[in-house]
Amino acid sequence: MTTVALLNFDNLPLFDQITPAQVGASIDQLISKAKSALDQVTQDTYPADWTKIAEVLDVSTERLGRAWGAVNHLNSVADNPELRAAYNEALPKITEFWTEMGSNDALYKKYKSIDAKSLAPVQAEALRKALKGFKLSGAELSGVEKERFAQIQSRLSELSQKFSENVLDATDSWSYLASEEEMSGIPEDVKASTLNAAEQKSLKGYLLSLKMPCYFPVMQYAHSRSLRERIYKAFVTRASDQSDENSRQYDNTSIIVETLQLRTEEAKLLGFNNYAELSLATKMAETPAQVIEFLYTLAHRAKPYALRDVEELRTFAKDVLHIENPNSWDWTYISEKLKEERYSFSDQELKAYFPAPKVLSGLFKIVEKLFEVNIKRDSAPIWHPTVDFYRIERAGALVGQFYLDPGARSGKRGGAWMDDVRARWLRPDNHHLQTPVAHLVCNFAEGINGAPPLLTHDDVITLFHEFGHGLHHLLTQIDERDVSGISGVEWDAVELPSQFMENFCWEWSVLQDLTQHVQTGDKLPRALFDKLIAAKNFQSGMQTLRQVEFSLFDIKLHCQTSKDQKSEDKSSFLTLLNDIRAEIAVLPVPEWSRTPHSFSHIFAGGYAAGYYSYKWAEILSADAYAAFEETALANGEPNVETGRKYRINILEVGSSRPAIESFIAFRGREPELDALMRHQGMMQ
Ligand SMILES: [Zn+2]
Repeated sequence: MTTVALLNFDNLPLFDQITPAQVGASIDQLISKAKSALDQVTQDTYPADWTKIAEVLDVSTERLGRAWGAVNHLNSVADNPELRAAYNEALPKITEFWTEMGSNDALYKKYKSIDAKSLAPVQAEALRKALKGFKLSGAELSGVEKERFAQIQSRLSELSQKFSENVLDATDSWSYLASEEEMSGIPEDVKASTLNAAEQKSLKGYLLSLKMPCYFPVMQYAHSRSLRERIYKAFVTRASDQSDENSRQYDNTSIIVETLQLRTEEAKLLGFNNYAELSLATKMAETPAQVIEFLYTLAHRAKPYALRDVEELRTFAKDVLHIENPNSWDWTYISEKLKEERYSFSDQELKAYFPAPKVLSGLFKIVEKLFEVNIKRDSAPIWHPTVDFYRIERAGALVGQFYLDPGARSGKRGGAWMDDVRARWLRPDNHHLQTPVAHLVCNFAEGINGAPPLLTHDDVITLFHEFGHGLHHLLTQIDERDVSGISGVEWDAVELPSQFMENFCWEWSVLQDLTQHVQTGDKLPRALFDKLIAAKNFQSGMQTLRQVEFSLFDIKLHCQTSKDQKSEDKSSFLTLLNDIRAEIAVLPVPEWSRTPHSFSHIFAGGYAAGYYSYKWAEILSADAYAAFEETALANGEPNVETGRKYRINILEVGSSRPAIESFIAFRGREPELDALMRHQGMMQ
């Protein structure tokens, strides 16, 4: 009988009893148990049997995963110096263990000798995924190649770290002291914070930086063209050869060149022609050519709308703002002014209609109806008094549970996310069906003077988005851990259920249930709703082309071969970008612009040859949602039949089959672009 909270796996994590002091020893103990489990199942005499391996190894690694998940979660939502120290000390050990297991030769051999034909289909799929994972981790390599593969991996992670450090340092190293006159037009809160920043350095004026909360408002609101030019130039040349002399040491050029070369070499070692093919091996899109074609089709359809957007901006700039030939640093400013003129409502005005409790009850109502469940309050140990815990039931039976941590507070990481606490799993050790549990975390502002928190419309969308991820994890009916819920779902398909839910936030009938004015109790009025819808698609053509440009650059860059990536030529990636811009862009970009040098998504994040996923998933979710529009009831409410079909074919199946098969099972055909174009106002 254990007394350490972190090592208690009887039920839900004991969040109220886990302390930083428990972390080190508990994680060490769980890693050591997982290592012995690995040793045991990889013995020659141990049977090559899926269930027998799972009984020992999966049970042990799941405990490690759950305990670490709890530590990781607390580190994100209830950070303190002791916990952070304990977390950072344990992190390398955890990473080392998972990496080692992921390329363990003996385990790979053991899995390979399992007779897949003897397995149930979901188990066979889990096995297939496991084998593929090993292969992509270099398990098929040997000798010099294996060594080289390991070298590449470690060098790539250094380069990625250095790339983001350079972006961060280059961003931090720039500042500019602006005068009162130059600050004309900029909102008061930005003026106050930049005045404060100057005062802290005993300077007189407004100290500007390249951080988003300063950069973006300056670009949007500063009447001074020269100030906008100055900050724009600094921003788009960050971490490059074109930046200021004093931050030239953060130039990312050679890191980009080396990263691309190593990725190509890594792909070759694993038997692919280029890195894009390697990246797509675990995605829904089948080939780089398919992705490129998809992006060009999208560009082609959006271009007339983007040209119209630009024309509107030019006319407005000339007639109203008296800017004759706008430059790159003028567009954001012009857009903002046009938007203000055209859609005169403020976030503040809208917010009053969205008290958090009303939004939540409206969200639950639609989910309960559409997916035939009941959502009830439940209890569990929590980490903060504002956290709620709920259970989802169908016909009285427990389906899953979730924590909801809605508010912003100190010690909590910004943003919003869904995370799994545990997966649905028919446990091989005790043969009980483990139900899934999820975290839903948001960062909404607190209520003022005892009033309930008020959400912006963006907050509401965020809540629906994360809830969509949550439903994907919680409503699954798959009993095999590694293919149930969100586990193993293709990267470019995982946003389908989340973006799908966002659509409801734009429905008149749904908004009636989500809104109740904080003072008057009124529902959202039609006139305000109409403005909201009109503003939604503002410049969607230009925005689509921008995303397509980034995505095409990313995928084509990773289709290059070593011939295209000679070390002497440090500008071939810029040539590629310029070629793409010549085809796609509707606004000219200055020759000295160096946006790839701070494109962290693809050089320091997980999006290499995967940036297209954003648009790809939008197509899927819009097309899936269109099925609900097509079958809506006369009063505009969604059809429960369609909800059931969506739930059974998409939400419940996890990654037990390829995402494209699930989509076709639901929609009766392959995904089409039309719904997204229509939703974004790009359809005649
Ligand atoms: Zn998401």
